Amino acid sequence: MLTLDSKIQFFNGVGYKRSSSFAKLGIKTIGDLLTFFPVKYQDRTRIISMENAWKYSQGCVFGEIGGIEERIFLSNLCLLDVELFDGILIGYVRFFRKKSMHSSADVFASIKKKFEIGNFVYAWGNIKVKSGIVFVMASDYEIVQNKSDKPLLFGKVVPVYHTVKGITQNFIRETVKLALNFCELYPDISNSMPDFKKLPKLTASLAIKRIHYPGTLKSAQFARKIFAIQEFFILEVALLLFRKNVKKNFKTQKYEIKKTMLRPFKNNLGFEFTRDQKKAINNIFFDMQSVNPMNRMLVGDVGSGKTVVAFSATLLAVENDYQVMIIVPTEILAEQHYLAALNAFKGLGIKIVLSTSSILKKKSEREKILIGLKNGYVKIAIGTHSLIEDKIKFKNLSLIIVDEQHRFGVMQKFDALDKAQSPDVLMITATPIPRALAIGICGAVDITTITQLPPGRLPVKTYFASEQLAYTNAIEELKKGNQVYIVFPVIDKSKKFTLKSVIQESKKLSQTWFKDFKIDLLYGKMKSSEKTKIMQRFKDKEFNILISTTVIGVGIDISDATVMIIQHADIFGLSVLHQLRGRVGRSSKQSYLYLIGGFKSDRACKRLSIIRSLNDGIKVSEEDLKIRGPGELMGTLQHGFHEFKTDDLVEVDADILDFIKKYVAKIVEDDPTLSQNTVLKKVIYKRFFNKIKLINVG
Ligand code: ADP
Ligand code: MG
Repeated sequence: MLTLDSKIQFFNGVGYKRSSSFAKLGIKTIGDLLTFFPVKYQDRTRIISMENAWKYSQGCVFGEIGGIEERIFLSNLCLLDVELFDGILIGYVRFFRKKSMHSSADVFASIKKKFEIGNFVYAWGNIKVKSGIVFVMASDYEIVQNKSDKPLLFGKVVPVYHTVKGITQNFIRETVKLALNFCELYPDISNSMPDFKKLPKLTASLAIKRIHYPGTLKSAQFARKIFAIQEFFILEVALLLFRKNVKKNFKTQKYEIKKTMLRPFKNNLGFEFTRDQKKAINNIFFDMQSVNPMNRMLVGDVGSGKTVVAFSATLLAVENDYQVMIIVPTEILAEQHYLAALNAFKGLGIKIVLSTSSILKKKSEREKILIGLKNGYVKIAIGTHSLIEDKIKFKNLSLIIVDEQHRFGVMQKFDALDKAQSPDVLMITATPIPRALAIGICGAVDITTITQLPPGRLPVKTYFASEQLAYTNAIEELKKGNQVYIVFPVIDKSKKFTLKSVIQESKKLSQTWFKDFKIDLLYGKMKSSEKTKIMQRFKDKEFNILISTTVIGVGIDISDATVMIIQHADIFGLSVLHQLRGRVGRSSKQSYLYLIGGFKSDRACKRLSIIRSLNDGIKVSEEDLKIRGPGELMGTLQHGFHEFKTDDLVEVDADILDFIKKYVAKIVEDDPTLSQNTVLKKVIYKRFFNKIKLINVG
């Protein structure tokens, strides 16, 4: 018997080949089909008459087939016009096909067979009117024998799904439609949802049916919203249970502020902590000294000085003889943090290792790291997600720090928790989290925000510039002994893009504009040790211009860099540009950002003017969200929670989410084992048990 967990290979003639195409869309089971929601809809409820068609750019027409006319167009493009009579006027449904020059095969053979004169056609597509004659560029059609025959895919709102090579839109439609017969098996938690006047109830199966085949567009939106709220509810319960469990797990680690290391570290810094940094350190120390594990997120704009806060927490752990793991998203940032830590902890006699996948590949290095961490000789491990690898064991890890947390999936972070009994966790991010998600994910996390920049920081002056201007000004800065970054979108020339690249341009620039200065380059694919060397040499000013890709976008800290030039700035997202801008303006000197690019579209111009007018990362990402839509940003944050349809959640009023959050807190308080909410319990157990191992609802 088929269930929601049945593999789709054996469903509705999908077969092995198509099932691998489906897998690319994230669909493996019948259940996955149910929540594979349309990306958009086509409103085919209304038939447009030929007479009125000029008013529309897209739509659906209907009529009797009067004839077929085929034309060869250019040398290899063929056209087929099907004449339609809708009772009043004649119009045409047009098909295009490419034909190879030497082939005599009839590209329209299959279509011509279907279009019998006298039958009726529904057709959907873009509408063009040429000298009063209507042409519909067919993207979908359906033939019926009699005028009154009911069509399958017309006269209704029709879903449009993502497709990949190997499966057609209509095959997906058909398969999903059949899967809807299993809707009732989808666990329905609508009865566990609170009664709230703004929150109408809909069973999960009805919601799913309406999302795929709604009567109207409005009804689809409504169903999506309800479904998203239900998913939010489930996620929230899971996270609160998780948190409750962590809290219940008293930790064994104890910290005493001894200052044997903290004091020399502070004296060594060369600056005072800002008020916000002090507040953050206080929060963190308080959490660490409490009996429950810390679960805190530190949010602060680029350059606000989050690293020293993280280092303070690190030292409190090390002072008390515990081990610390610092995880970052890129190798180059790991290397930077490693160098920064070596420098900041100089003379304290702390053994620190750098652990990235390229280092772990070397057998001797690997052994050293594994043994050092296992016997506790190494106190601090700084690295990429390679640190999460099962083989790496710690003697007494007590603190996990995740820097640039927004780059990680939620689940990876939880996996890291396996390395210790009940570790303290500090997450650091420069990307503020949209409100809806903050309530979701961060239902389980405490937040500290740094709003101040270190004193004396001047806002970075941002310009749209010609290459000429940017390079001339860069030379002025270089003459003052300052340093310059130039960022290109790609490493090497490629056939696919016509973009300027790091390798070609650095050669050119070192012979022309910057022939009197020293240039070096850096990109992701380089060997780890090589990258470290280059960054160290840049820091030591052995060269003055660093040409790179966006790999330098996160976390890099060179205080004498005062110029950032970004080529093809129009193709980068705002948050990326803001992060890149954060690489300059890291001292009291005035810094500059030059954006070079084609600025062809209005959209590109608008985006870039936002970067220019806003220096505040929080505002930049809010604007980014508005223009780009939340999908992308939330996608990264939500990575791992594929069930959670975040796009729709943005549409939900914040007070509904607030209400649910409070309600969930009560459920988890009153019924922590979910014995009164059996369906909910089953859902959570099934979905999250393997992922969030700490949830204990079994
Ligand atoms: P981010 O928050 O982007 O991670 P960093 O921690 O890299 O920022 O700090 C940016 C720069 O500011 C570093 O060079 C750091 O040494 C410096 N810095 C941090 N805090 C202060 C402070 N209170 N006063 C002066 N400089 C500071
Ligand atoms: Mg940082």
